[in-house]
Amino acid sequence: MDPNNTPDETRAAVNPVAATLDLLGDRLTLALLGHAFVSGTTRFTRWLELTGAPPSVLTDRLNSLAEAGVLERSPQSAGSDRHDYLLTELGNATWPILVCIWGWQREWTPEGAWQPDLVHTACGHRGPATIRCGACGTAVTGADTDIEMDAEAIWTVTSGARRRSSRGPARGAAGADMQFNAVMEAIGDRWSGAITGLALAGTRRFGRFRSALDISPTTLTDRLARLCAVEILERPAGSEREYRLTPRGRALFGVFVFLIRWSMQAFPQVPGPLQVLHRDCGNLLRPELQCRGCDGPVNRESARIESIVPRPHA
Ligand SMILES: [Zn+2]
Ligand SMILES: [Zn+2]
Repeated sequence: MDPNNTPDETRAAVNPVAATLDLLGDRLTLALLGHAFVSGTTRFTRWLELTGAPPSVLTDRLNSLAEAGVLERSPQSAGSDRHDYLLTELGNATWPILVCIWGWQREWTPEGAWQPDLVHTACGHRGPATIRCGACGTAVTGADTDIEMDAEAIWTVTSGARRRSSRGPARGAAGADMQFNAVMEAIGDRWSGAITGLALAGTRRFGRFRSALDISPTTLTDRLARLCAVEILERPAGSEREYRLTPRGRALFGVFVFLIRWSMQAFPQVPGPLQVLHRDCGNLLRPELQCRGCDGPVNRESARIESIVPRPHA
């Protein structure tokens, strides 16, 4: 890090959680990773079929994931200029984020039944996992943690243009995973992801969101309204420009703790803007997935994801 940087420049340059949302907080990117995990997809043509995304947008997302070290290109045959895109170790580390997203969708949305199902192979239990503290082994929810936020941190994510251009066509042509749904409103949009993260960390007032985010008031108002429309946030009666998480918004805790965890793996040298502490044991929360059937650990070795069931055509 350049010691001549002013603190402002340093902060703006490296906010690992914002950078993580910038990369992963995108519905197509999450869909690509989902297909890699669920059906072992490694090829451009297969992702194209599965998502219905415009080819140029798909190329852009695969390039971003390769640049970030989440996927690596491997020639399909010797001398071929076609590539497979394989998950790296960092790519595989996004697995619990996807598992939490699917689990949330199954529990909190009407379309949840169409999302991939988690099966704990060890005991046969089927369904979403619990989050536990890796230090003390106790199950945790957001209510068991304290989130310390660097009040000076600035959250900058890529603004609308790139996303907007991909959004209409992708939604129209796409399969089930590209259609509108609440979790994608909260996570699959970079700004909304940052807002939801700040809300989980205790931010409530419009002015506070505004000062933490490098965002225009119009965009902030738009995203807050969208998060209220999908019942992630609500406005307490009688409050002026104040927002709080609904129960389904608070249930996104698991998704965010694994996003924060992943940001620490992706940016190991950079202190993050959020510290999640497990109040009972006092440790920094190292989240783990735990089976609700047998309390055993849930990971890629001990669990499988059952394929996305195609949504019947109306
Ligand atoms: Zn603990
Ligand atoms: Zn189990």
